[in-house]
Amino acid sequence: MGKETGFLELDRRERDYLDPKERLKNYREFVIQPDDATLQSQASRCMDCGIPYCHNGCPVNNIIPDWNHLVYEGDWKNALTVLHSTNNFPEFTGRICPAPCEASCTLNIIDQPVTIKSIECAIVDRGWQEGWIKPQLPEKKTGKQVAVVGSGPAGLACAQQLARAGHSVTVFEKADRVGGLLRYGIPDFKMEKHLINRRCVQMEAEGVTFKTSKEVGVDISFKTLQENYGAVVLAGGAEEARGLDIPGAEMPGVRLAMEFLTQQNKRVAGDDELRAAPRGSLFATGKHVVVIGGGDTGSDCVGTSNRQGAASVTQLEIMPKPPEKEDKALTWPDWPMKLRTSSSHQEGVERDWAVLAKRVIGDGEKVTGLECVRVEWSGGQMREVDGSTFTIPADLILLAMGFTGPKKAGLLEQAGVDLSARGNVEADTDSYATNVPGVFACGDMRRGQSLVVWAIREGRQCARSVDEALMGATALPR
Ligand SMILES: Cc1cc2nc3c(=O)[nH]c(=O)nc-3n(C[C@H](O)[C@H](O)[C@H](O)COP(=O)(O)OP(=O)(O)OC[C@H]3O[C@@H](n4cnc5c(N)ncnc54)[C@H](O)[C@@H]3O)c2cc1C
Ligand code: SF4
Repeated sequence: MGKETGFLELDRRERDYLDPKERLKNYREFVIQPDDATLQSQASRCMDCGIPYCHNGCPVNNIIPDWNHLVYEGDWKNALTVLHSTNNFPEFTGRICPAPCEASCTLNIIDQPVTIKSIECAIVDRGWQEGWIKPQLPEKKTGKQVAVVGSGPAGLACAQQLARAGHSVTVFEKADRVGGLLRYGIPDFKMEKHLINRRCVQMEAEGVTFKTSKEVGVDISFKTLQENYGAVVLAGGAEEARGLDIPGAEMPGVRLAMEFLTQQNKRVAGDDELRAAPRGSLFATGKHVVVIGGGDTGSDCVGTSNRQGAASVTQLEIMPKPPEKEDKALTWPDWPMKLRTSSSHQEGVERDWAVLAKRVIGDGEKVTGLECVRVEWSGGQMREVDGSTFTIPADLILLAMGFTGPKKAGLLEQAGVDLSARGNVEADTDSYATNVPGVFACGDMRRGQSLVVWAIREGRQCARSVDEALMGATALPR
């Protein structure tokens, strides 16, 4: 603990953002990092708790009090070593993690939590700036080959850990670029993509081979992988989007959020968005946009629509509006259910809750509106409110209602792995092994739609299990 009285003397100070008018002009990140002195004083608010709930609240179990102490002391390099000991990619989580660690922080009971996420991001950004982050080559190679299917955060973390343990790792990715949803879901204004490229360079130097535009189950059979690799890791994500089964939803103006977001990320990268757009280019410019789904994906559609110059943006959620503030006595140290307003929401949106979409209005070709009804919830049951039907003008309706699980055709059918009741690949979190010998699964493909930090955790733990299976013992951390 750097300073015993830090938490008594100092208030929490968050990162600043560029003004919405400025940030809406482009797709760049807009967070303004605090200066070193501010970060060090914020780190001094950490109480170095006997039981650090932050550490438990963090899915990768970041050793938060230790790096808070080191930052307070100005020892950024050792803080980076501690941070990297539990997280392969803190520059991703430092930008886009919802930070369950902060919800769990002991200071959050009667005060404001330590700014853990800002400090994490500053440590790793500094590490890159100073040139401290270098490839970590294994002392010796094992001669074992591992195939990782999918290059999202789970596949990347798994591949990096396995390469550092001395295995020859090949990552197969069906998209044209590496990164999974980090690359083609999360917009650049939340996380710029050069951060992924930089990690890929590091991983290639560590011995990882990336094969992009290679869909396992289509371009290369699963059997070929089994024959050529000692182990296969399935890290293909939960790509099956929940659709909208209402009259009119087949019209061209009703589109999946991922179609919209992927195209924009491709444009920002200078790529041809039409390469992965069978239904043509999609823009919100000048349109009345309605986003169905109140979560992260919906919020990313709001931010992207506003940057494209939408005439209006409305976001609908079927669940009731959550409370503005949580009852901390009931929820701490768990993740509380409360109203969350993202930076994209602050840029301009009309939000509405407890609304059910009933019918898309249009002439079969062009969408002109969305008919909705208000709903009430009681005991987990939903009921439509009589006489509450209303219509919202809409030219473009984006579906952001979550994901139902991994795609089954191709990879999973050929692999013959068992699926859980929820349709994810069945594997426990000790072994990450599927029912097929030598085949492992991690990330959203195993746990269902989740978070980047959970994907990193699963990738790391899965690597440990693969290493143990191949070598009989492992020194990789869980
Ligand atoms: C729009 C959006 C915004 C999000 N925002 C956040 C956020 O702000 N913070 C957060 O923590 N989480 C966020 N998430 C969730 C997070 O991105 C995911 O939980 C995480 O990326 C899952 O990682 P993964 O590696 O398991 O899978 P993915 O990231 O989905 O990666 C899977 C990869 O496997 C590839 N693949 C699939 N099948 C094959 C095959 N047969 N052959 C070859 N390759 C294959 C896919 O192309 C993909 O690249 C968001 C999700 C979405 C959709
Ligand atoms: S719970 Fe909060 S105050 Fe306690 S060790 Fe973690 S960051 Fe520091």
